[in-house]
Amino acid sequence: MLNLVLFGPPGAGKGTQADFLIEKFKLAHISTGDLLRSQIAAKTELGIEAKGYMDKGFLAPDSIVIGMIKSILQENKKANGYIFDGFPRTVEQARALDVILNENGTPVSGMLCLCVEKEELINRLLHRGKTSGRSDDHDVSIIENRIRIYNEKTKPLIEFYAAQNKFFKIDGVGSVKDIAHRVIETVGSL
Ligand code: ADP
Repeated sequence: MLNLVLFGPPGAGKGTQADFLIEKFKLAHISTGDLLRSQIAAKTELGIEAKGYMDKGFLAPDSIVIGMIKSILQENKKANGYIFDGFPRTVEQARALDVILNENGTPVSGMLCLCVEKEELINRLLHRGKTSGRSDDHDVSIIENRIRIYNEKTKPLIEFYAAQNKFFKIDGVGSVKDIAHRVIETVGSL
């Protein structure tokens, strides 16, 4: 079973690359950002709580996100494997994911980190904001906050996965196809 963590700062291209991996390896796609946005659209209690954090560029609370992951994994038990996109984003989330997957005897296979410089990230997100309709992609100060939170809370996961020999760094700059090629090659080597 292939369980991939697709990692990188906001705007690194995780969602785009996830599409290639799903197609190639037939994995179930689990994007916590998408799951949270659908809770917001459905105006659930969870969505209303998460929206307050997301709109300002902060992370949703670990308890909400981990609970959501547990139920989605329950619903997708028959999958060939999973691609986690935008999760885990804190050490607490990574520990929780290890516990859940190890209980099933199907640990994380590898963490693929897409590297992109800050200037490029801001340009990409502002560009995406013109068409995505996402409230967190319009304002430079919110985007900068997301990148700051990534550096503070999420980047430490590089050490977490490196300590398990599961950290793989991929250059996230270039054409979408070239990057997809790098990603697929890395997955092939796992
Ligand atoms: P991006 O990678 O561009 O930030 P996402 O869709 O992954 O886009 O995330 C959008 C927002 O959703 C984040 O800024 C955060 O507020 C919230 N979010 C997504 N995933 C998580 C998570 N694993 N933990 C906490 N908050 C999350």
